[in-house]
Amino acid sequence: MIKVNPNYEKLPGSYLFAEIARRVKEYSASNPNADLIRLGIGDVTRPLAPAIVEAFEKAVREMGDAKTFRGYGPDYGYDFLVNAIIENDYQKLGVELAFDEVFVSDGAKCDVSNVQELFSDDATIAVTDPVYPVYVDSNAMAGRAGTFVTDRWDRLCYLPCNAENGFVPPVPDRPVDVIYLCYPNNPTGTTLTKDQLKAFVDYAKENGSIIIYDAAYKAFITSGAPQSIYEIEGAKEVAIECCSYSKTAGFTGTRCGYMVIPHAVKGLNGKGEPVELNQMWKRRMGSKFNGVSYPVQRAAEAIYSEEGWKQCKETIDYYMNNAKVIREGLQDAGFEVYGGVDAPYIWMKTPDNQDSWTFFDRLMTGANVVGTPGAGFGPCGEGYFRLTAFNTLEKTEEALARIRKGF
Ligand SMILES: *Cc1c(COP(=O)(O)O)cnc(C)c1O
Repeated sequence: MIKVNPNYEKLPGSYLFAEIARRVKEYSASNPNADLIRLGIGDVTRPLAPAIVEAFEKAVREMGDAKTFRGYGPDYGYDFLVNAIIENDYQKLGVELAFDEVFVSDGAKCDVSNVQELFSDDATIAVTDPVYPVYVDSNAMAGRAGTFVTDRWDRLCYLPCNAENGFVPPVPDRPVDVIYLCYPNNPTGTTLTKDQLKAFVDYAKENGSIIIYDAAYKAFITSGAPQSIYEIEGAKEVAIECCSYSKTAGFTGTRCGYMVIPHAVKGLNGKGEPVELNQMWKRRMGSKFNGVSYPVQRAAEAIYSEEGWKQCKETIDYYMNNAKVIREGLQDAGFEVYGGVDAPYIWMKTPDNQDSWTFFDRLMTGANVVGTPGAGFGPCGEGYFRLTAFNTLEKTEEALARIRKGF
């Protein structure tokens, strides 16, 4: 019989959300009248904006008419969307990109995982801790994480982020090939300043590393934090940027995002000569991808229209108002709270050094509020807890009223 990929055996399993579901189910079964409020939702809940639906519908009709029907599109994305991205997401920041440096995709989760195909099997990987689990799991599946021992992978370089260092990761203390950064951050909701990002760009240049920058939450920034790594001098030589319409415009079920790979980002080939990752990715996309569907790309284009953006911004503001309700409510109740200003995530310290699963149980049984234990995002998440701003305002206010009452 065929031998399966042995790296899958090493995966500890999707413990976090399965374990949350198990505990919620068990509690609900024995407390059928409990009205649980979920502040652990990692998905958007508000519908697509009307201007987006209109563009989406129009494009679907074009597909049903022989005169406007389209078959395979370009595998890098339609010109209308690529140009809208370059003009709106980059030129407005003073960043110039070439047309062929942008690759439209079906989302950032796939991009941050798939892009590893461009790296050698023995490439060393650094991640912040806590971290969006996708970077870790996808590298583990590719055999780059080593073995999972107790609470961590023995080949990964973890960059600890905690209240003591203000959630600013230190640059790696050894040479690594790839560094994953996500700002505004999931799960901590915090951002880095330009100077703090510059330290990573400088490190990457000195060590020949590549930064994979996940900017999925850039549309939530309210503080003036950088929206793109390319706002940092020199980043175009060392950074790949992944963006997504999932949180920006409620596209989690519609699927569209893009990845930027500047020509200047290079790695060494087998002869020790520098090669462009952009050229490699083009080759990869040509062989393995046939593009995002035409109606979805038209829907994404509509995000950049005046009406579309106004409507998307209203939804983002709605979530960010929830974030404010959570942040201020927790502060009033005496908790130590981070994030929630530039991201729909609030990261709180558990009181009295409770471990994050104990606090999960106390919050669920005492206030009937469900969140996410920090330990699920990496060893440094222990002692912290994540709440999200994706529920309704009414439910969010109710949850905070309960928390303020004490439990
Ligand atoms: C939600 C999220 C994404 C979005 O992934 P898509 O595949 O585009 O839906 C990417 N990165 C992080 C950190 C996220 O939380």
